[in-house]
Amino acid sequence: MAIAFQSATDKWVKCLSGTGTIRAVAVSATEISNHLADRHNLTPTGRKALAEAIVAGLILSSYCKSGEKVNLNIQSSGWSHQTIIDANSTGEVRGYVLERAPADIQLARNIGPWGIGLLSVLRTKHDDAQPYIGTVPLLTGHLAKDLTFYWLQSEQVNSAVGIEVFMENDRITIAEGFLIQAMPGATEADISLIEEHLKKLHHFDSSSEIRSTPTRLLSYLLENQSFQLLEEQPLSLKCPCSLDRVKRSLTLIGVEELESMLAENKDFEIDCDFCSETYVFSPVMLGELLREMK
Ligand SMILES: [Zn+2]
Repeated sequence: MAIAFQSATDKWVKCLSGTGTIRAVAVSATEISNHLADRHNLTPTGRKALAEAIVAGLILSSYCKSGEKVNLNIQSSGWSHQTIIDANSTGEVRGYVLERAPADIQLARNIGPWGIGLLSVLRTKHDDAQPYIGTVPLLTGHLAKDLTFYWLQSEQVNSAVGIEVFMENDRITIAEGFLIQAMPGATEADISLIEEHLKKLHHFDSSSEIRSTPTRLLSYLLENQSFQLLEEQPLSLKCPCSLDRVKRSLTLIGVEELESMLAENKDFEIDCDFCSETYVFSPVMLGELLREMK
């Protein structure tokens, strides 16, 4: 296994309102975002994009059933060509950002940094059940807003989503987010109360007390409502890549290509896209692989 990094501080916290009509999750993923961004050697912009996408992926996976996982795929005209995040119901995440050169980014006025494009969410179940894919257009270029549209469009659920990433000296100081959803039976009053809080949230800066933990953020968002904490899940980076898996993918490029690699008589390095682990193949290893294939 290439990476397995358990954060001591990052987690998601889920709760349900006393009336049972509103559910919410708050995610804090600062440490794992920095750790993965370091491994991928991203620019400050790439770090910010990765952190936003990690928070989004974890929000999506937090409501997965046991054994399910999600794959968030963002193809866009803004700060990344493509961003992929895998996350599962136990808070494990991995992913990458293919950055676009700043000179190549041309966004229309009022469009957020992600630009326009497509946002897809693939949900895979543990058993052999058919995976479910939901795709919506990226319209605003703001991930949280476009995700709100995703829940409405794909799952017909009224939601409020927030994602905030703060940077200081090219490091992520806060990567957090939340999802609040109206369950069947929620009243207009429930929903408008939350909307009022959301508006106020933007007036707080990164040093605000309410941002210090996911539980505090939830208390703030659901102020004046009794709510019950349902789950606190520590988060980790985990990539299941291995030398064997890379070997298997190498066999797909075919005997001819491998033979020409072998003819160069040098080491080849292959990096895992998801975690940047490097696997080195010596001429001896390539020779063995070829013998196995023939
Ligand atoms: Zn990997």
